[in-house]
Amino acid sequence: MDEFEIIERYFRPLTNGYGGCADLCDDAAVLDIPDGYEVVVTSDTLNEGVHFMRGEAPENIACKALRVNLSDLASMGARPFSYQLNIAFPDKPIDEDWISAFTGALAKDNAKFHVFCSGGDTTRIHADCLSISITAIGVVPKGQAVRRNGAKDGDVIIMTGPVGDAALGLKALQEGLDPKLYSNAITRHRVPVPRVGIEEVVRQYAHAAADISDGLLADCMNIARASGLGVEIDMQKFEFSKDVQYGLENNAISYEEILCGGDDYELILAVKESSVNVLLEELQENKLNQLVIGRFTDSKVGFRVLNSGSHRIDFKSLGWKHF
Ligand code: ADP
Ligand code: MG
Repeated sequence: MDEFEIIERYFRPLTNGYGGCADLCDDAAVLDIPDGYEVVVTSDTLNEGVHFMRGEAPENIACKALRVNLSDLASMGARPFSYQLNIAFPDKPIDEDWISAFTGALAKDNAKFHVFCSGGDTTRIHADCLSISITAIGVVPKGQAVRRNGAKDGDVIIMTGPVGDAALGLKALQEGLDPKLYSNAITRHRVPVPRVGIEEVVRQYAHAAADISDGLLADCMNIARASGLGVEIDMQKFEFSKDVQYGLENNAISYEEILCGGDDYELILAVKESSVNVLLEELQENKLNQLVIGRFTDSKVGFRVLNSGSHRIDFKSLGWKHF
C-alpha cells in the first residue's frame, strides 16, 4: 500500500472530519482559533531504540507520542486543539496491522483528550528504526500562558501526583524484574497520563509550571533557573505509589532514581502560599493525588534536598549532573 492509500484509509479518520483539514487532500490545514486565544505549539520525537523499545506495541507508541506533547501543553496552561503527525517508516514493507493498531489508539486518545489530527508527513528512512514526531497545537487565552520564569521567592512547589513510577517501570523492563510486582509502574512508563483538563486551574494559580519529563530535580531546577531562584525540596513530604513503595523496600529503586528519573509527566506548579489550600482542593476535585514537596527560595540558598531528618542530601550522592 502506498503513502496516499495509508493517508486516506488510516490518517484521514483521525481528523475527526474537521473542515480545515479538507480530508487531508490539501497541502496544509487551516485552523480556526477561537477569538481572544493564542496558539501554543510544541514538538516531541520518539525514536525506536531510544525513546521506546524495539518491538513495543504500536498502541503504546502512539499514545506516548501524543501524550508527551499534550503534557507540554498542560504545563503551559493550554487546552489541546490539534496535532501534526510525522512518521518516518524504516526501510521494510509497511505492516498494515501495525498502522491500524497505531491509528486505532490515536483515535481513542482523540476522544479522550478532545483533539484531532490536523495533518502530518509520511516518509521513509534508510534505516532500520521507526521515528514518530508529533507537533501539538494548543490554545490559551491571550497573555495567560504559564511560563517557567514566573516563580517567586517563597512560592510553594506542588506536584500533581507522585513520581518514580516511570523510572521504576523502565528499570523493571530493562532488568527483567517480575512484571506482576510492578505492573502499574510499567504501564506508567509505557503510556503516561498527561494532566490535561486542569489548564484553567494551572492558569489561575501557578506563577510558573513545568511537566516532569527530564526528572523531578532537573525540572524544578529549570523553573528555578528561569526565575532566578533557588529550590528546597523536602523528601519528608513525599508519598509514593504502591509499586514505588514496594520497589524502595526491595531495593529495586533508590531515592536518587526517583528524584532524577524522568517521564512521569506530572506537573510541578509554583504557587503563592496563600493559594496553596484552595489549589490543593481544586486538584483533589480533579481526582489527583497532589503533593506539596518544597518551595522556591532566594537564589543564594541554591539547590537543596532535605531528607527525613531535615539533613541536607549531598548532590554527588544523587548523581546530580549539574554539580
Ligand atoms: P505534500 O507532498 O504536499 O507535502 P503530502 O503528500 O505529504 O503533501 O500530504 C498530503 C496530506 O496528507 C497533507 O494534508 C498532510 O498533512 C497529510 N498527511 C501526510 N502524512 C500524514 C500523517 N502521517 N498523518 C496525518 N496526515 C498526514
Ligand atoms: Mg509532505
